[in-house]
Amino acid sequence: MRQSLVIGNWKMNGSLGLTSELLHAIEDAIDDKISCEIGVCIPFVYINVAQQLVKQTAIKVGAQTVSEYQSGAYTGEVSAEMLAEVGCKWVLVGHSERRTLFNESNLLLVEKVLAAQAARLVPVYCVGETEADYKSGVTFDVIKEQVEALLSNQAVDLDQLVLAYEPVWAIGTGLTASPEEAQKVHAFIRGLVKEKNIKSAERLQILYGGSVKPDNALSLFGQRDIDGGLIGGASLDANAFISICQKA
Ligand code: PEP
Repeated sequence: MRQSLVIGNWKMNGSLGLTSELLHAIEDAIDDKISCEIGVCIPFVYINVAQQLVKQTAIKVGAQTVSEYQSGAYTGEVSAEMLAEVGCKWVLVGHSERRTLFNESNLLLVEKVLAAQAARLVPVYCVGETEADYKSGVTFDVIKEQVEALLSNQAVDLDQLVLAYEPVWAIGTGLTASPEEAQKVHAFIRGLVKEKNIKSAERLQILYGGSVKPDNALSLFGQRDIDGGLIGGASLDANAFISICQKA
């Protein structure tokens, strides 16, 4: 049985004040109806402060991207070791905004996954098809290419990994894949991992992301291969986020 996991992705939102406000509100709202793991992937500059705030709680902190390099002359970059040192557990790798706006390729993203794992972080490797892909019926081809890029690298540790399926057309749009549609893709992803290692595939947490809200979370999380959610917009509202965690 896999434990459910809900991770908030704050993106480039917030401030010192909001970081403390939101984390306190989430912490206050955590009750015994919540049994999932809870993570918040927040801007780099707030990680240290957030880590102090959540120390005694069930919330764990993560980052939204990481350098593929260990150290050196890479101005502006943040290494996986640095993130581990300030207490991060997770790091998002390959969010569609990174793939599209920052031209991050599958090849580069696999390097980032390896860098994260080497520092004992758990990379949350995100995959998803665009609206054009979805409309032309190539969703499974796109997902296969993105997942295979990872699986074909023998150095990737399948037991120190989370996958997230996020249809790009559902991110921040209010549209979601139907639970049945999402389940099909999640089962497909798990099947690809199974071809490499059956036990790892059974253990692997695969999150769904794309306009998850309190009112659609239950039907999505009720699907056999959906192990929780990656939550954007709704993670900036403590009540909505907690309500989603309760559904997981
Ligand atoms: C995301 O950015 O990962 C995301 C899923 O965003 P939203 O929940 O706002 O669609």
